Amino acid sequence: MAVSRYYNEDIETAPRDALDALVDEQVRYTVAYAAEHSPFYRSWFRSHGIDPASVRDHEDLLGLPLVSGDTIRASQPPDTPDFLFRSVDWPEVFTVHETSGTSGTPKAFFLTWQDWERYAEKYARAFVSQGFSKGDRVVICFPYGRNVGANTMTLSARAIGMTMIPGGTCYAPARIIGRYHPTAIVGSVFRFLALARELSAAGIQPAESGVKRLVAGGESFAPESRAYIEETWGCPVHNTYGSTEGTMCGECERHLGLHVPEDLVHLDIYDPGLRSFVPDGECGRIVLSTLIGKGEHCGTLLLNYDTGDSSAVISRERCPCGRTHLRIMNPTRDAETVRVAGVYFGRIDVERGVFQRENLEDLTGEYESFLVPGDRPGGVVLRVSVEVRDPRGADREGIRDRFIRGFIGNNPRLRKIVDEGTLGFTFRFAEPGGLELFRLTGRPRRLIDRREGSKT
Ligand SMILES: [Zn+2]
Repeated sequence: MAVSRYYNEDIETAPRDALDALVDEQVRYTVAYAAEHSPFYRSWFRSHGIDPASVRDHEDLLGLPLVSGDTIRASQPPDTPDFLFRSVDWPEVFTVHETSGTSGTPKAFFLTWQDWERYAEKYARAFVSQGFSKGDRVVICFPYGRNVGANTMTLSARAIGMTMIPGGTCYAPARIIGRYHPTAIVGSVFRFLALARELSAAGIQPAESGVKRLVAGGESFAPESRAYIEETWGCPVHNTYGSTEGTMCGECERHLGLHVPEDLVHLDIYDPGLRSFVPDGECGRIVLSTLIGKGEHCGTLLLNYDTGDSSAVISRERCPCGRTHLRIMNPTRDAETVRVAGVYFGRIDVERGVFQRENLEDLTGEYESFLVPGDRPGGVVLRVSVEVRDPRGADREGIRDRFIRGFIGNNPRLRKIVDEGTLGFTFRFAEPGGLELFRLTGRPRRLIDRREGSKT
């Protein structure tokens, strides 16, 4: 049986000029809808002296102010009498989601049934681009409940003809695999590592489990960790990037960046000062805008929403998979980036050091790291804690050397601060289950800045 390569072929392979014209049309519908139905945007257009009808195409979005999670928090009770971002009447609200992020105060997010269908379509396109088809059985190792991703991924299965197995925290993976023979698992890269260990302990080799593909989401990862998980599971790991705000981007089987469903969400990359777009290829902040079609409704409409994540446009040319929708780099969270002596690095750099292939003979891949003041003035120490399979047998010196080499990579600025001694390292080799993050709930934080005066 021929398997379709596309979920929505006409849209996914539309020529660039047709796609741009469609995006501009959606921008006009969306801005008109915002001006009419969103209390926040109604007063926002008025107070900024902007005529909504003057916003004609996606370039015009640059002339509109940016909003952020803080704007949403300041526009909902108790700060305001009502939810100013809610852009439909209550009877049309299908679900309400609270997203807390890292700040603690939950943002309210309203979804209509149409929003659910649009989110599901984005995931359906991604799944099909990753080779999923009718008959696939997919375990979702993400919590349901407040999580929009797990729920809308599940909805996407309906149109493809897949079976979804809500796994939540994926308790008892050996039983799930033995009973239901899933062909794919969706989860975080660290979940895949833990599942592989749990399966091996139960006498099942992950590569012989029948799982044909893994879909990673929830957090970015280093290429080295993907390579290791692909080796362990004997199958490809495809990347996705999603959020409650509606960015659902997925890597196709070619792994040449994440395709952005351009007709359903608009994504701009801004310079770090958030003043202008950066040229394609340059890294900057992801700013998204909801897109809706003529006559469609939207529960929480966002224009120029600063996601706090960074990425770069890789290409707007047709991908070898045939899709024309633009491709972006694996996004990273700005909250996971630190600065030492003017040099930036992030969790992915630390992860690259941990996942040096030879290190994984001794390490499980689980790690956490803390930035603390060093002994010398201005000096900083990165305290790296790694989980070791057998603390007595580990090649500690080798792990340390390979970590530092992998961490520096090809970055001459990192090399300089390490060579100068401005950035030093200490290592802790924790026994299984011995990391701090195992005792904490919520999203694990793997690079924590504990210098004096830092916010974290
Ligand atoms: Zn592609």
